[in-house]
Amino acid sequence: VRSPVPDYLADVLHDCADGPAGRNTDYLPELAQADPERFALSLCTVNGAVHGAGDVQQEFSIQSISKPFVYAMALADRGLEAVLDKIDVEPSGEAFNEISLEEGSARPLNPMINAGALTAHTLVGEPGMTAQERTQRILTGLSAFAGRNLAVDQVLYESEKGKGHRNLAIAHMLRSHDIITEEAPPVVYGYHRQCSVLVTSADLAVMAATLANGGLQPVTGEQVVPQPVIRQVLSVMATCGMYDAAGDWLSTVGIPAKSGISGGIIGALPGQIGIGVFSPPLDEHGTSVRGVRVCERLSDDLSLHLMEVSAPARAVMRSTHATEGPERDRVRVYELQGTIQFAGAEGVVHAIVENPPDTEYVSLDLSRVDSVNGPARRLLGEMLRRLEEDGHRVSVVDPESVFDPGSVLGG
Ligand code: GLU
Repeated sequence: VRSPVPDYLADVLHDCADGPAGRNTDYLPELAQADPERFALSLCTVNGAVHGAGDVQQEFSIQSISKPFVYAMALADRGLEAVLDKIDVEPSGEAFNEISLEEGSARPLNPMINAGALTAHTLVGEPGMTAQERTQRILTGLSAFAGRNLAVDQVLYESEKGKGHRNLAIAHMLRSHDIITEEAPPVVYGYHRQCSVLVTSADLAVMAATLANGGLQPVTGEQVVPQPVIRQVLSVMATCGMYDAAGDWLSTVGIPAKSGISGGIIGALPGQIGIGVFSPPLDEHGTSVRGVRVCERLSDDLSLHLMEVSAPARAVMRSTHATEGPERDRVRVYELQGTIQFAGAEGVVHAIVENPPDTEYVSLDLSRVDSVNGPARRLLGEMLRRLEEDGHRVSVVDPESVFDPGSVLGG
């Protein structure tokens, strides 16, 4: 049998082809001349399954979609504090190439506008790296996200170099405020190289899935950046990823995303999937028109909106019963199930408090529990400690070691 997923993706492409048209960017002649009919959609799950439809082999330049990944590298290499010191995380509501800095601190407003992206570019690697070493580190890093060796489109790079006046102006402004501490031109050229890296929609889906998967590349199994970095990157994508239409995007599509002027869009839904779309004609914000339609459609069809309320955690307590046999009246068993987070653990605590056990022995049975997160573990652990304090003998049945009772019961 064949998976229904690629057929579904082909249907989505077909349905989203029609509608308001849009226009290729005229920023660079190579991008202006790109075939406007090219259309590709790829999806990668956090399990590493990649599906696609349309022109999935078509390469195009990554452009601004490189920004969240380079921001991730800067965070991994320099730490959150050092990066926040130079780049804020406030949505600007302005165009991507706006020449503006935060009043007072002179920091760029966020890493998704060019001022912030140029700054993030300089924060990758060890301090003191040459511009060339840094560009190499960025190419290697982007390749690790994609799981294959990516290359720079030299022709496009040269073309942008001749057109980079605005980015040079931004870089000079950053230099004058000591936000970047190097000469402006090499920084801008390195950034242009970063934007000229060639990818396919499948690469974008896998790269986005790495963000969705806490930095663990789901196909190669490589931890590309540490997990805490990802929360920061996805937050910034959610609030600042879609140029000046970030609020509209978050409410309608609800997937942390980033678009680029060559017509690509990535979407990364934490814990589920990465999406890569490509179609060159852009809307008035500079985002792929068909790409937006595809993302709206996927979000609706597959219930991918971040704010979609997930099933409530009420089913955590599976049963509470006495044991069988001669011990019957002496043991009360609380049998839990599923994934336990704070609200679910509170439900268990609440049930115990409302109806306290009258037996000598109390047992928490976690045989059917998939995972217990930190806050839930601490809350349940404290509850068990209090039961012990009240004179009960407490035990935990935990064959899969989801709970690590040793640590919560104090050994
Ligand atoms: N290289 C382009 C620039 O910096 C990228 C713009 C984009 O994709 O939004 O102007």
